[in-house]
Amino acid sequence: MKLPKIEPSYTFIKTKLPSGKTIGCRGWKVRDEKELIFALDSEENLEEKKINHIIDFLGKCTDNQKLFMELSEQDLKKVACEVRKLSKGNTIEYNYQCPHCNFKMFDTVNLIDSEVVKELDNTPFEVNEDLIVVFKDLSFKETDKLYDLYKESNAKYTFYSFLASIEGITYKGETYTGFTLKDVEEFLGELDSDDLNKLYKAHEEKTSEWSIERQVKCIQCKKEVDISYGDLFSFLVF
Ligand SMILES: [Zn+2]
Repeated sequence: MKLPKIEPSYTFIKTKLPSGKTIGCRGWKVRDEKELIFALDSEENLEEKKINHIIDFLGKCTDNQKLFMELSEQDLKKVACEVRKLSKGNTIEYNYQCPHCNFKMFDTVNLIDSEVVKELDNTPFEVNEDLIVVFKDLSFKETDKLYDLYKESNAKYTFYSFLASIEGITYKGETYTGFTLKDVEEFLGELDSDDLNKLYKAHEEKTSEWSIERQVKCIQCKKEVDISYGDLFSFLVF
């Protein structure tokens, strides 16, 4: 007898992201997981492209593709965490090795307790009496593009990512948006070095952050072990 076809049924749970945006997330199905594993298995450039496959996979588990494509890396981490919770529950069990004494340990992360969220603060930042700047979270797509362009130089990647995070500039009462990276590079070139430092600091403080990193103590050598889980996306999905 022919097997019946199960009608797809997806329940999306509204999830607030570090940027303040909201997107619906669902748990993944066998079909999604299979497609991801097959795609990874036939990827020739796995080390560099793994994350892109995982992002595509996560996108299918949300209810708004257009918004998903605009999300920042921090937002995507939050999506990954929610999708993981809906698929496999709130805890992840994993093994790791103490970097000090190589002792092998076993730990459980509770995804409800351990996330730290700093929301995007897009209120204007006053650099000096002439200059006000507004920051945004860079989308993952933009970050990825900048990384491809500047992966040879960490200084350039950091600098241009910072420039790309500037959403608006008010100078002497006039407000500007929609400028190119080259425009803003040219403009900021004439600032005092001290003002640039203020901007770097504000950028750091105002853009969003999501993390499940935490410190545990090694049971053998009793030293603090900082667990960053390596690549967080892989950690959450597998
Ligand atoms: Zn140890």
